[in-house]
Amino acid sequence: MSTADLNLQSFYPPELSITRVDETDNEIVIHMHSTSRESTCHKCGAPLVRHHGTHRRKVQDLPILGKRVTLVAQIYDYQCTSTACGSFASTETFDGFLSYRSQMTERLEDFACLLATETSCEASARILNSVNVKISGDTVIRLLIKKYKQQPPPICGSAIGVDDFAFKKRHTYGTIVVDEATHKPVAVLNGRDGKSLKEWLQNNKHVTTVTRDRASAYAKTIEEVLPDCMQIADRFHLHQNLMDAVNKVLGRTIPAINPVPLENEEAPEKTTPAVSVPSTEDGEKKSIFGEKS
Ligand SMILES: [Zn+2]
Repeated sequence: MSTADLNLQSFYPPELSITRVDETDNEIVIHMHSTSRESTCHKCGAPLVRHHGTHRRKVQDLPILGKRVTLVAQIYDYQCTSTACGSFASTETFDGFLSYRSQMTERLEDFACLLATETSCEASARILNSVNVKISGDTVIRLLIKKYKQQPPPICGSAIGVDDFAFKKRHTYGTIVVDEATHKPVAVLNGRDGKSLKEWLQNNKHVTTVTRDRASAYAKTIEEVLPDCMQIADRFHLHQNLMDAVNKVLGRTIPAINPVPLENEEAPEKTTPAVSVPSTEDGEKKSIFGEKS
């Protein structure tokens, strides 16, 4: 394929016909107009065939070689006469390319969100600014929230895990619910006192097994809403409890100060440790620090 074969139109929906391309040092402006004969009402979803008027939309698209790409499109408003809308002028949208009221194409929104999930919202905005895309960190946050709301509700199996986490340590905490089959989060709830979990469980009564920490708030809530549900203390918290218990025993048993004798100094008289100590081969007792007694 020679360079002359690159067809710019092939990167855009066929019903958006390119009429002119202007280029400056930092920007490429692509002018286009709609040739559509039908659309869908963005409010009620009814199919539309009657043109109501036209208007101009200016949106950003993915940059080309560091130049901002601006689309200036003359698009149709369609007349919706469905019972739900009455008489309503619906702005034409292009599925998968340009949604209602959006300031940028869906592919640019998706890219900003991808960068944000890999880095952060502010970093995503800074990277895009470096290739001349006009976007702020706040806009990236709004895009992420918009994309999140468009997601279908996650499917949750009958076995879940619940645990608390800190939105901000020592200030605000939340509860996360994870599907044990997919290991993916299915809900992030406010608070860790069990109130929000109670509400969530009431809407998910198909749950039969819950893995949880050993805090009583979750145990009580689960018992209250799903009395037949099997509750399992998770491995991490069992380990944590075991380590706490071992630390307590050692703390009680081992003296707080255990002086190490200098070479020429007589070793101080030792107190007998309360824990059993292993014997060496010659029958001598060793302390748990490996010193001979
Ligand atoms: Zn409608």
